[in-house]
Amino acid sequence: NLTDKFERAFKVLKGQGQITEINVAETLKEVRRALLDADVNFKTAKDFTVRVKDKAMGENVLTAISPSQLMIKICHEELVELMGGNESEIQIQGTPGVILMSGLQGSGKTTFSGKLANYLQTKKNKKPLLVACDVYRPAAIDQLHVLGEQLGIEVYSNKEEKDPVKIATDAVIYARSKGFNVVIVDTAGRLAVDEAMMDEIARVKKAINPTETLFVVDSMTGQDAVNTAKAFNDRINFDGVVLTKLDGDTRGGAALSIKSIVDKPIKFVGTGEKMDALDVFYPKRMADRILGMGDVVSLVERAQEQFNEEEARKLQKRIQKDQFDFNDFLGQIQQIKKMGNVKDLMGMIPGMGKAVKDVDIQDDAFKHIEAIIFSMTPKERANPSLMNGTRKTRIANGSGTNIQEVNKLLKQFEDTKKMMKMMSNPKNMMGMMKQMK
Ligand code: GDP
Ligand code: MG
Repeated sequence: NLTDKFERAFKVLKGQGQITEINVAETLKEVRRALLDADVNFKTAKDFTVRVKDKAMGENVLTAISPSQLMIKICHEELVELMGGNESEIQIQGTPGVILMSGLQGSGKTTFSGKLANYLQTKKNKKPLLVACDVYRPAAIDQLHVLGEQLGIEVYSNKEEKDPVKIATDAVIYARSKGFNVVIVDTAGRLAVDEAMMDEIARVKKAINPTETLFVVDSMTGQDAVNTAKAFNDRINFDGVVLTKLDGDTRGGAALSIKSIVDKPIKFVGTGEKMDALDVFYPKRMADRILGMGDVVSLVERAQEQFNEEEARKLQKRIQKDQFDFNDFLGQIQQIKKMGNVKDLMGMIPGMGKAVKDVDIQDDAFKHIEAIIFSMTPKERANPSLMNGTRKTRIANGSGTNIQEVNKLLKQFEDTKKMMKMMSNPKNMMGMMKQMK
């Protein structure tokens, strides 16, 4: 599914120290493939990856996060944009405000009508009237009555009348006279898009002039959901989408495609058959779900918040002048530690969650490193070149470690220093990139 594919895409960047043209291109190739497989149209997928690339190349990678984590964050932001950015409200002003349901049979119109009425009554302090306009299936009218009874909401119907336009207009007049301030019109759907259905819904819409026309679609239907949305929108120009059955085995590819193709916001999602399983659609939450990596996103956000630009610039200078010492090293470790304990951090890395749960990792993996550095004299910390055998023995004893561990840390320090030096020099960066080609 889409989540697995994204995860695979980000794996390309695992172990890479920097974001480069090359590794970004690799990742985005995978991301684009994932989007296309999820029925996102070609142009949308292409534009998406171009935007992600531009953003990625412009970001500096913080020491505390990896390129793959940064990439996840950027993809997340762009997914949110692709789905409309912020949530959008339904329009229910008017006396009464009229909401019209459209969609294929089985998409969940009747269920959603009940959910919405319930939501408006209990959460928005409205007095809704439900209207049964499915004149082809008497059972559909009964279904709405059962829901209405259950919710304590009146249902308007007329089994003698065969014209849905007449039922709908009568219902609006009735609502006005009885003080209902919202009218929710449930209509008939068919198993496939056809002219008769389109004509009927278009006529109902024209007659009652709804403040909000919603298109209800089953999220499990994949590419069909997108085609149906386009057909309905071309004909009735709806205002918003209701994506139902998200509780099923779907990761929301339809959510991405529909918005990008018909350019109408998704306003609600259905997540179950029960009347309270209605949710306002939040693009951010859907992006979390699609990436399955909400934790990484918040990790990167935290890291970015805590990162101090000023400090970084100073450090950069010290690295270039070959002055990177144990104090800086300690500072870097503390920077990482600020973001949470190591177990938490590792749990946030895609694919690591399960592994970390079973293994008993010390909460403070940096304890020894810190102990060793703390056992150094200030002079030694500032001048790593002073280190010799007797000093090492003293430090090992003082920190409750041993010579091997001290040596290991010194090597880590030297490696880090070398890497930082290399990365801080643009000329070296170019050289490294050429080598990778
Ligand atoms: P309509 O023909 O468009 O009016 O569709 P219905 O409202 O009758 O729904 C068709 C079927 O889908 C019913 O069995 C509903 O219980 C079910 N359904 C509707 N919305 C959801 C949802 O969000 N999740 C799940 N799991 N089932 C739903
Ligand atoms: Mg129905």
